[in-house]
Amino acid sequence: MSEVTQIFGELTFNKAVMQEKLSHETYKKLINSIHSGNALDESIAEEVAHAMKEWAINKGATHFTHWFQPQRGGTAEKHDAFISYSEEGDIIERFSAKQLIQSEPDASSFPSGGIRSTFEARGYTAWDPTSPAFLIQSGRNRTLVVPSVFLSWTGDVLDLKTPFLRSMRALNDAAIKLQRMLGNRQAKKIIVNCGPEQEYFVVSRKLYETRLDLRTCGRTLFGAPPAKGQQMDDHYFGAITQKMIRFMADLDHELYRRGIPAKTRHNEVSPNQFEIAPLYEEANLAIDHNLQIMDIMRQVALNHDLVVIMHEKPFAGVNGSGKHLNWSIGDNTGANYLEPSASPLKNINFLLTMGAIFLGVDKFGGLLRASVADAGNDHRLGANEAPPAIMSIYLGEYLTNLIDEVESIGKVTEQTMASINMGVRNLPRIAKDSSDRNRTSPIAFTGNKFEFRAVGSSHNPSEAATILNQLCTYGYYIIEQRLASAKGKDIRESALMVLKQVFKETRRVRFEGNGYSSEWHKTAKKLGLPNARNTPAAMSVLKEKDVIELMQKTHVLSEREVHAKFEIKLETYIKTKEIEFKTAINMARTQILPALTRQITLSAQAAAALKAAGAKSNLLLKDAEKFADLYQQIKEGADKLEKTLKKGQSCQDLHAQAIFLGDSGEKALETLRAFVDEAEELTANDLWPMAKYHELLTAL
Ligand code: ADP
Ligand code: MG
Repeated sequence: MSEVTQIFGELTFNKAVMQEKLSHETYKKLINSIHSGNALDESIAEEVAHAMKEWAINKGATHFTHWFQPQRGGTAEKHDAFISYSEEGDIIERFSAKQLIQSEPDASSFPSGGIRSTFEARGYTAWDPTSPAFLIQSGRNRTLVVPSVFLSWTGDVLDLKTPFLRSMRALNDAAIKLQRMLGNRQAKKIIVNCGPEQEYFVVSRKLYETRLDLRTCGRTLFGAPPAKGQQMDDHYFGAITQKMIRFMADLDHELYRRGIPAKTRHNEVSPNQFEIAPLYEEANLAIDHNLQIMDIMRQVALNHDLVVIMHEKPFAGVNGSGKHLNWSIGDNTGANYLEPSASPLKNINFLLTMGAIFLGVDKFGGLLRASVADAGNDHRLGANEAPPAIMSIYLGEYLTNLIDEVESIGKVTEQTMASINMGVRNLPRIAKDSSDRNRTSPIAFTGNKFEFRAVGSSHNPSEAATILNQLCTYGYYIIEQRLASAKGKDIRESALMVLKQVFKETRRVRFEGNGYSSEWHKTAKKLGLPNARNTPAAMSVLKEKDVIELMQKTHVLSEREVHAKFEIKLETYIKTKEIEFKTAINMARTQILPALTRQITLSAQAAAALKAAGAKSNLLLKDAEKFADLYQQIKEGADKLEKTLKKGQSCQDLHAQAIFLGDSGEKALETLRAFVDEAEELTANDLWPMAKYHELLTAL
């Protein structure tokens, strides 16, 4: 056995361990609830908890924690030791069924969008058995981690996993129904697979520590562009440096121990930007694993005196980081509904699934946009960078022609059906070849999956996956309704008639051209496609009746929960902006202005010295004046930003405040930044109080 296969999953309570530690009966029941996605059968909880504890303690664990995904992003954990008193009053280590199935963190400090008032602020977390428990390790200490959902006592959603699991259920029911209509009896459970490609930056820890903005906001607020950025295109897929290989190898090792199938590692477009992508897995697990990857990366990097930056736009002027979420749908038989096939019925299923997604994106493009909106991603979507905020789908030439052919069918005959079938069957796996890809599209069909490119690098991909699931579910609902009333002589004929109509009415969301071009922005506007410029604009969809209805119909969120999400998103946005503005003001006043004071003194003193010596001093005097001007501009810029920040606080409500900070606040920061960056380019290097872009972005 190779080392990889030997260590793979050694820190997880995986199927092999379960089989070894549990009775056959219990093992079968547990596997059953894992496959069905149902809550754990209480009758076996005691045995499972005991086995898990024995396994964890044997591996050196002293504590356990329920690990969950609060709406604020990231993950949360509260550790409890296994120790408790025995009946005789001695210390023993135990982990009961109750502790496994359910635990009660004090939830008062998690964002809830006003769902709970603080006095009833209890929430509870419950094990999600479809995601295996695992151990985390720092130094000698190990902790048993139980992946969980997080709910309030009133049953309201407080996390991101619960709505995701609910969306899976809705999609499952809708998709299975369609399979039955198509005569498929084999499919018992719908499987969504996801592979999130994670982009990130790495900088030297020593340099990182000189930057208050990176440390506090995760991104730089100031920084003049380096002479050499990404213009030479020499970083993408370039040779990975020794130092980075050592980090990546350590990282992969840690990931393998946790059973996370890291597959690809490479340099990205910007200097010091990289990507890691795993093999795809069932969506729920892929999402949990992505969250773990982000955590583990940060820790492993520190061991190498490096800092991983997951922000969507840490440096102006070079590419930001995203997380391409690859998404496909299939079932327990291993079928992938987005995979062309030799069977005509499967190909009809392929086209219907395409149609379902078109319908979803056509109707709820704005909601999909909102699922990836936050202050960080605003610097990518709809700003000067990939991908655009208009949600359109790229199919490639071959598939576009095929869809057009379906759309233009006159009468459905055996011959047209055969021709369409041949078309799908021969669908080349062109998209696998990246040369054929349109990188300006937010949603691209890539051979046997959709790649959703608008997710931010720091995001929990669960939010986007939830909406993708719901969009597909919505499309299936419509298609099923229409199929039921179609008058074809068989299901294939009915399906083609339905598809013809669906492709026609969703034409506007298919776009093959350049998504960055101003023509597309104009055309999209004419077509009525939403194009929210930033988070406050994107959030408005959560007020729309159709969106609330979709959430209710799919049982993903109640109206109350949608409203709570609206509030949480805006609150988070406002807080992020406020922290950025305060940090910028602080840096300007306590670091930049003092540096300029020194520079002014130096220049003025030099001018005076020259004058005293009888030499020409006017150039140095001009320098001193220029620095004095910048001093004034920066001082005023910081004051203006502070005023704007205060003014925001007197807005009538959250939405108004978010809009105001996103417009006027952002403008005030940009103005300040322009002066600071100019000062950076003129001030003596040894006086500048923080690492510059060219240092931060120098190869490691
Ligand atoms: P790239 O887009 O960089 O060319 P790959 O083709 O290697 O990348 O795939 C990128 C990601 O897509 C990987 O995480 C991979 O596991 C995932 N992926 C591949 N096939 C599927 C699928 N059928 N469903 C979901 N994800 C998939
Ligand atoms: Mg990709």
